[in-house]
Amino acid sequence: MNQSQTPDSLESLGEFGLIDRIATRARSANATTLKGIGDDCAVLSVSQGKRKVITTDLLLEGIHFDLTYCPLTHLGYKAVAVNLSDVCAMNARPQQITVSLGVSAKFTLKAIDDLYEGIYAACNAYGVDLVGGDTTSSLTGLTISITAIGEADENKIAYRSGARPNDIVCVSGDLGSAYMGLQLLEREKRVLRQSKTSQPDFGDYKYILQRQLRPEPRTDIVEFLDQIGVVPTSMMDVSDGLSSEMLHICKQSGVGCRIVEEKIPIHEETRRLAAELNINPVVAALNGGEDYELLFSIAQADYEKFQSQVGPPIYAIGYICEASKSTRLITTCSDEAQLRAQGWKAFDGK
Ligand code: ADP
Ligand code: MG
Repeated sequence: MNQSQTPDSLESLGEFGLIDRIATRARSANATTLKGIGDDCAVLSVSQGKRKVITTDLLLEGIHFDLTYCPLTHLGYKAVAVNLSDVCAMNARPQQITVSLGVSAKFTLKAIDDLYEGIYAACNAYGVDLVGGDTTSSLTGLTISITAIGEADENKIAYRSGARPNDIVCVSGDLGSAYMGLQLLEREKRVLRQSKTSQPDFGDYKYILQRQLRPEPRTDIVEFLDQIGVVPTSMMDVSDGLSSEMLHICKQSGVGCRIVEEKIPIHEETRRLAAELNINPVVAALNGGEDYELLFSIAQADYEKFQSQVGPPIYAIGYICEASKSTRLITTCSDEAQLRAQGWKAFDGK
């Protein structure tokens, strides 16, 4: 057997297996650590009735972003936005960030100014303070690590683990668009490579490009939930795709689910480009990722509160059931298919 394929190899463990392995050794020595590894943020007790949440993300050039088509200002904005999204996923309000950079010699001062233009734009848009970080030289392009800190009342925090049978599964916006935006950028990059003279042709696809390049954290949903007095029984943000996130919620809550295919919100531009590229738009929604919408479950009794108040659209896409009933998608032809966490890599080669 190939050494890299033994059961204990990094390759066979995968990202989530590795995190589980790291988590088994984690012990909390401090009573203030209420939740450690395993949710969108860690949860810390700081004062009576209040919680701090904290999350961190690492972005590497060539792995998470491609500077051929991602302008540095957008990258700065997105790097902040994805962290704030994790704070929102705990039903908390973001307040501070720190930013750490590894910068190689190919970057100019103007490039770093552009990056911070985006970072500060996101801070201003969401009322967040940049309070520190670290800067170092790098041999391999640009590395950005952002940590975000947020706050919530103790009884408002939404973990991944609280979903209960009969809860309604909701999502805050359309899915699959960011993935289709990436497909468009990749296609135009290939065209440019082949013919150095031609200009990229993004056609009439503004929305999906913006979804890929400049996602917005859903702080408005956290505000709306507060306004109508609803605390989701579970919540996370959609960074890896609906299937993967639903499986996390179900595993950690010890439940199953039914997601109804025709209820999954998919934008018209996503459908149009998917048809052009011969990709199933539902597969893009299930496995595409980077949508940064909030996926949450609510008690049935809370559902009418959404309908009785004017607020951002919320889409009910399924329900929670007993674990013994498994995690399934009800397809348009009323068949049932197992939800699988394929993640975006499953699309390679398409
Ligand atoms: P998200 O997609 O919401 O950012 P991740 O899947 O990256 O979440 O992480 C899941 C959980 O694992 C989080 O609690 C995160 O803090 C933790 N985690 C990820 N990588 C590590 C690591 N190398 N060491 C310790 N904890 C980690
Ligand atoms: Mg998350």
